[in-house]
Amino acid sequence: MFNSLSDRLTTTFKNLRGKGRLSEADVDATIREIRRALLDADVALPVVRAFTGRVRERALSAEVAQALNPGQQVVKIVNDELIGILGGETRRVHFAKRPPTVIMLAGLQGAGKTTLAGKLAHWLKADGHRPMLVAADLQRPNAVNQLEVVGSRAGAYVYAPEPGNGVGDPVQVAKDSMEVAKSKLYDVVIVDTAGRLGIDEELMRQAADIRAAVDPDEVLFVIDAMIGQDAVATAEAFQQGVDFTGVVLSKLDGDSRGGAALSVAEVTGKPIMFASTGEGMTDFEQFHPDRMADRILDMGDILTLIEQAERTFDKKEAEKLQKKVEAGEDFDLNDFLSQMAAIKKMGSLKKMMGMIPGMSQYREQLDNFDEREVDRIEAIVRSMTPQERANPKLLNGSRRARIAKGAGTTVTAVNQLMERFSQAQKMMRQMRSGGGGMPGMPQMP
Ligand code: GDP
Repeated sequence: MFNSLSDRLTTTFKNLRGKGRLSEADVDATIREIRRALLDADVALPVVRAFTGRVRERALSAEVAQALNPGQQVVKIVNDELIGILGGETRRVHFAKRPPTVIMLAGLQGAGKTTLAGKLAHWLKADGHRPMLVAADLQRPNAVNQLEVVGSRAGAYVYAPEPGNGVGDPVQVAKDSMEVAKSKLYDVVIVDTAGRLGIDEELMRQAADIRAAVDPDEVLFVIDAMIGQDAVATAEAFQQGVDFTGVVLSKLDGDSRGGAALSVAEVTGKPIMFASTGEGMTDFEQFHPDRMADRILDMGDILTLIEQAERTFDKKEAEKLQKKVEAGEDFDLNDFLSQMAAIKKMGSLKKMMGMIPGMSQYREQLDNFDEREVDRIEAIVRSMTPQERANPKLLNGSRRARIAKGAGTTVTAVNQLMERFSQAQKMMRQMRSGGGGMPGMPQMP
């Protein structure tokens, strides 16, 4: 996400960093670059104007002229202002004092509402909630079915009208669902509503009626980050028609230029609350304006990385491994296999690596990174017997040949893996003697 914007801004600042003094011409040249980069990223013109105006004014002020490193100071100003247009503080879900908390989803057809309903349920479950999904999208023939599919992936109950009971009235379905939630003790109700390809009055009226019927604690407007310049008009129409309390940006994983992200919060004054970054249940994160600004300026996002690790790692497994290491036992390939499974559960490795500071200089390697590499490594380890995994020293030439055949790969690939594994093992020993490092996280090959 934001790759090209991020690369352009990073290049612009590189030219600025070493300068001891900044002339007005330097500042203006920088502002021009920023302006072009934002426009090319499809950020709405009024937002670009306001943003560059504020950056320019601050960059020419005494705070910069007197700074030890004026170039660095300008980067900080851009960072601050980016946080500003992304909405400032992190905005978390407001839960109702008395459950159920009702979250209604609105947006155009194809924006990603149904997928989001599943992701939200999955995310809430990890936090100990009992979410229920409501199919109030009765427009699209397949919508109820699709919600049932995402519901089962998230392990959440789906309330939908019985098939064969006519088309059904979405407002009534939404109303009824509140009673169901109360009687079955679901504490969060996520109401999926119908979208249309374009903005139309009937759609808005229906969404407004559902809103009136369920009195939601949150109304989330879901917008496809790829729609570019249309983002502002669509967001404004939904703000007038239904009104919403927060924004969800979907498809931020695409090759999108990200303009919607940078325009919608500023234009509507409503916070971005979540970002959707893929089709999987875990491709979803809480939106933090400050961390997103850091990512755009290639300063990484270690906090999100750690949080995702904490959410998915099995604490018992990690503790078991730590005990083993502390007891002076070697980390073996069985441990390696369970670590691989844990890492895979965190989602895309490419995405995780993208959160490491300074990664933009490795963009090409990152883009070429093949996620299936993890599966290939796993296939090799799975082709070993448990004894071999526990004692890699057993792996002589003929065993390696057998393993390569079993995993559908070459002996060279098996050798490479074993080489990297023995390096990782060495690192674990060093960590043990020297302390430090991340517990339970061996060096990834
Ligand atoms: P709805 O009409 O608003 O309910 O949209 P859907 O949830 O049906 O999503 C439309 C399409 O976009 C589906 O094919 C989804 O798999 C896909 N989709 C949804 N969210 C994301 C996302 O964050 N990233 C990507 N790449 N695809 C997504």
